[in-house]
Amino acid sequence: MQSLQSYKIMDEKELKKRIADIRARYKNRLLILAHCYQQDEIVECADFVGDSYALAMQASKNRDAELIVFCGVKFMAEAAAILAGNNRKVFMPDLDAGCPLADCADIDQVEAAWNTLKKLDISKDVVPITYMNSSAELKAFCGKNGGIVCTSSNAKAAMNWSLSQKQKLFFFPDENLGRNTARAGNINVSDIVLWDPLKNHGGCGEKDLANARVILWKGFCHVHTFFTVDHIKSAREKYPECLIAVHPECNEDVVMLSDANGSTSFLKKYVEDAPSGKTIIIGTEINMAHRLGKENPDKNVLPLARSLCPNMFKTSISDLCYVLDNFPVDNEISVPQYIADDA
Ligand code: SF4
Repeated sequence: MQSLQSYKIMDEKELKKRIADIRARYKNRLLILAHCYQQDEIVECADFVGDSYALAMQASKNRDAELIVFCGVKFMAEAAAILAGNNRKVFMPDLDAGCPLADCADIDQVEAAWNTLKKLDISKDVVPITYMNSSAELKAFCGKNGGIVCTSSNAKAAMNWSLSQKQKLFFFPDENLGRNTARAGNINVSDIVLWDPLKNHGGCGEKDLANARVILWKGFCHVHTFFTVDHIKSAREKYPECLIAVHPECNEDVVMLSDANGSTSFLKKYVEDAPSGKTIIIGTEINMAHRLGKENPDKNVLPLARSLCPNMFKTSISDLCYVLDNFPVDNEISVPQYIADDA
């Protein structure tokens, strides 16, 4: 087996040729999935490009694929591994590609928070919801406690369902997605409390927890909280006729000043559906914003600001080629069965 280092010094043409040969050899026994935030060189080699939910669905659907290579971050590869089932293998080209948002809530912290709610006799009235961008353990926690997993596309439906089941919901790990969704669903600010895992009782008063309808976890995606009101103002000054669409992981003030907000799939469709010649400013990860521009040359698609996800950026074409050539055990993603069952 050639070392990873030897792939790092190969030229791009050679890497692309090797990848094409491997894909031709394996045909539909191999599935390469790439998240929209990946670099162009990775996206060009993928069978499917999409958001985390769409990619997990592809892993589940393409039953002929015995080998799945997931170019994204760890929680996404775990979700794909869970949905792919036992007989198929999922690999990640760079195992260091984690997600700081997912890391904002670990299972010990969430269980400690839940135990506090139990002691206060509140947990029986609460539906836990975890965003897709979380570890498999958190997804299993929700499965075990009558909760659900949501995506940015269906967060609103998940909240509505939860509040039809019980009086309250506990949303983790992204505060902004939770807050923006709750506010869009006409939940009052006074009905929302913020749980800070680094503080005693989450920094919440007993009365506030008892009265709240929505408990939000204090977690964030630094790629999306990078966008500010000043970015919006200067975009509007420069392009008065523009449309601005942002991801709901952005801060509430940014979302409020934009023309639209929604998931990765929503943003893609928003640009596609806009009239030719329109200037559309996109507040999401830079690789995706740039690609939307390339895919829609009849429109002027610009990033709200340059915000790169360093973890998505970790996967290089050398890493991908190395994994495809060797399928190293060390790069395999596996989720323990007891977690997968509940997730
Ligand atoms: S963009 Fe944000 S949520 Fe997505 S992988 Fe990067 S840090 Fe995580």
